[in-house]
Amino acid sequence: MQKHLFTPGPVNVPHEIRIAGAAPMVSHRSESWSCIVEEIHGRLKRLLETSEPVILIPGSGTGALEALAVNLISPGDEVISFSCGVFGERFREIASRTGAKIIPVDIARGQGFTGDDVTAALAEHPGAKAVLFTHNETSTGVVNPLKEMASAVPVDGPLVLVDAVSSLGAIPCYPSKWKIDALASCSQKGLLAPPGISPVWLSERAWETAKTRRCPSYYFDLALHRKYLEKKRPQNPYTPPVSLYYSLAASLQILEEYGWEKRFESTARMARTFEASCEAMGFELFVGDARFRSPALTSVVMPSGKGETIKKALEDLGVTAAEGQEKEPFTLRFAHYSPGGWPEASLLTGTLFGAAEKCGLDVNPGFIEKAWKTWNGEVR
Ligand SMILES: *Cc1c(COP(=O)(O)O)cnc(C)c1O
Repeated sequence: MQKHLFTPGPVNVPHEIRIAGAAPMVSHRSESWSCIVEEIHGRLKRLLETSEPVILIPGSGTGALEALAVNLISPGDEVISFSCGVFGERFREIASRTGAKIIPVDIARGQGFTGDDVTAALAEHPGAKAVLFTHNETSTGVVNPLKEMASAVPVDGPLVLVDAVSSLGAIPCYPSKWKIDALASCSQKGLLAPPGISPVWLSERAWETAKTRRCPSYYFDLALHRKYLEKKRPQNPYTPPVSLYYSLAASLQILEEYGWEKRFESTARMARTFEASCEAMGFELFVGDARFRSPALTSVVMPSGKGETIKKALEDLGVTAAEGQEKEPFTLRFAHYSPGGWPEASLLTGTLFGAAEKCGLDVNPGFIEKAWKTWNGEVR
């Protein structure tokens, strides 16, 4: 039986992308390596619609977040940290370890921020040097209105640092246009590659900040990474994860040729279809306000006491979901990063139906008609 991974990272990596990683090693100081670096770099810049460089650092998304913090935050800096979940808290903790003075702004789990929340916090803390935003809060399934939040920060205001680990490649995210200053992502979610290399992007203003201070991290010194990227033969300061670059080059090629706009739309369509079918089955969605529901993943509340058994039943049927990161209520999270059409949508909803029936829930079989109509845009 084929297994289907619906966890929000890593995701099912399509065959062509996986085998691309098996190509022979090359020297990371060779011309052929520079071609790979250049190709990936060009594709990432087009994805972000930016002319500023995109640095790839070895490590997962958490490493990329750390790279932002150690290059841009100094001890004693006032940093306003907006958090609506586990990943917002993680970014806060990473920033606090640089010696920043953290000003926490928290909202209830399952809710998202607005531009007004940002305006209010900035009015209270006019001396802040940076703000921390989470684009897509993967622990709850909330997508924050990043463009609106960033536009609430004055252009000469604090640096806007964004965790885009679970949004890049799945949800529109345009840091240059949206006046963001620093962005961190990963390879294993929206970009459909194996985990292990992470894009980091800085605005011109953030590069100025990074260049004028001595980065306390040797390995994550972004100015050094940029210097190597801008050599006549673009390369890395240290040995890069060569195989992962091959896979990422393949995934970016496939996704770019498919078209990023189309990719964003198909991710969102999958999410809407799944949300509608869950509700038709009688499940409650963790994110109550539809505006904040993530196109990248759906967090579904499990009936009291049934969560573990439904997760196990799904697993037995071949679908792996991720458990929510909160104790109460028990949620299961399903990611929508893998490319797919109606067959994949019905696979997921149909398997959840089967698991729920197996666990003795009385589920309305009309969910599939609702899913089909939603897929076709006949109902919202
Ligand atoms: C996955 C994730 C992270 C952590 O990324 P790793 O690749 O596991 O280090 C950070 N923030 C968000 C929003 C995430 O979804």
